[in-house]
Amino acid sequence: MVKAVVGANWGDEGKGKITDMLAEKADIIVRFQGGANAGHTIVNQYGKFALHTLPSGVFYGHTTNVIGNGVALNIPVLFDEIKSITDRKAPTPKLLVSERAQIVTPYHILFDQYEEERLGGKSFGSTKSGIAPFYSDKYAKIGLQVNELFSGARLREKVERIVEMKNILLEHLYHKPLIDCGELLETLKGYRDMVEPYVCDVSAYLDCARKEGKTILLEGQLGTLKDTDHGIYPMVTSSSTLAAYGAIGAGLPPYEIKEIIAVCKAYSSAVGAGAFVSEIFGEEADELRRRGGDGGEYGATTGRPRRMGWFDCVASKYGCRLQGATDVAFTVLDVLGYLDEIPVCVGYEIDGKATTDFPVTAKLETAKPILETLPGWKCEIRGIRDYKELPKNCRNYVEFIEGQIGYPITMVSNGPGREDIIYRESPLKKK
Ligand code: GDP
Repeated sequence: MVKAVVGANWGDEGKGKITDMLAEKADIIVRFQGGANAGHTIVNQYGKFALHTLPSGVFYGHTTNVIGNGVALNIPVLFDEIKSITDRKAPTPKLLVSERAQIVTPYHILFDQYEEERLGGKSFGSTKSGIAPFYSDKYAKIGLQVNELFSGARLREKVERIVEMKNILLEHLYHKPLIDCGELLETLKGYRDMVEPYVCDVSAYLDCARKEGKTILLEGQLGTLKDTDHGIYPMVTSSSTLAAYGAIGAGLPPYEIKEIIAVCKAYSSAVGAGAFVSEIFGEEADELRRRGGDGGEYGATTGRPRRMGWFDCVASKYGCRLQGATDVAFTVLDVLGYLDEIPVCVGYEIDGKATTDFPVTAKLETAKPILETLPGWKCEIRGIRDYKELPKNCRNYVEFIEGQIGYPITMVSNGPGREDIIYRESPLKKK
């Protein structure tokens, strides 16, 4: 059985918590795309952890955690993360790394910084983790797969070729120090030694696991609106954030993904540049940011304040559709308990016309939110485990949003912990 946990919004929806929770009943957790540019926050008995590369199942003794071929693998970051876990006495994670995963190199990180610098005010707001240069190189066929670290003279030859090209850009476009080929090869040797114990033919491993009836969880990074193709291009990430890509980034048949859990946050937040129709500002935004998530809405990787907004039904309906959601996990609902009234964006006004269809970027930039205001519930809902025990206005909020997005909300998350979850029967759920 293969399930995917993916984001229906701009990322930071609480996928880490949902994956961690579902991992209790899973055998294998696979990351299939993205790199160390976004983080998952997980709170458990060992403490609070920000994971950037490791799958969110690493805290269970019974799970195997897999870095799939679709990931942008930063080997030193991966090893620092393993260390941060074992240093705090959590069990050593069982980890496998695809021999086909490609490696983020120090020059990818530098090129990311240099390009953002060059773009100045027109920059993408990149986390400067090297992700865009990494994926550009992957598709330009000058990336380095993990298995190539073990290829001796072949690696040397390839690296020399790459460096020749990169140095032309460094010298003439960016006016920065050049790459020393020998030094780079030494760094790559270090990476090889770090990754060696974990290297595996992941698609073959998953094929066997699937045939043995194991439960495999695919864990997405970021969300639909940051997908390279279907997101707010070009203010997107450089890999596909969709469940469909899980098949490619893990090496599984697409028809094996039976459940797709789209994680949707009860309000909106986004990082980086790009149109954000339901965005709010000033004190209203500051308060939601301060109260949001678990300890405020600040980037898990960069610590930068996230942009805040009301729940956006247009973006979320689109987000769930592109993910192919079989279930929606509606998260961080507890945070909204302080509001007398809660505005919800139910449509966009574009060129004087109302629509509930999510448009292409140029139109999105002109869209104005159509807001509807729902009554708040004005109390703490953490600790509640039974949907019927939620205040009426809170259930109204959930059901109103379910009606707008048209996908079944079967899980409501009312706190950061694993146990803070309410399962719900949805009239929209296909049996
Ligand atoms: P991810 O990248 O999608 O995993 O999301 P993040 O980890 O960036 O953001 C989720 C934040 O909200 C984390 O700090 C979580 O601990 C926290 N969180 C997740 N679910 C809930 C919830 O239902 N209520 C509250 N208050 N916090 C939550």
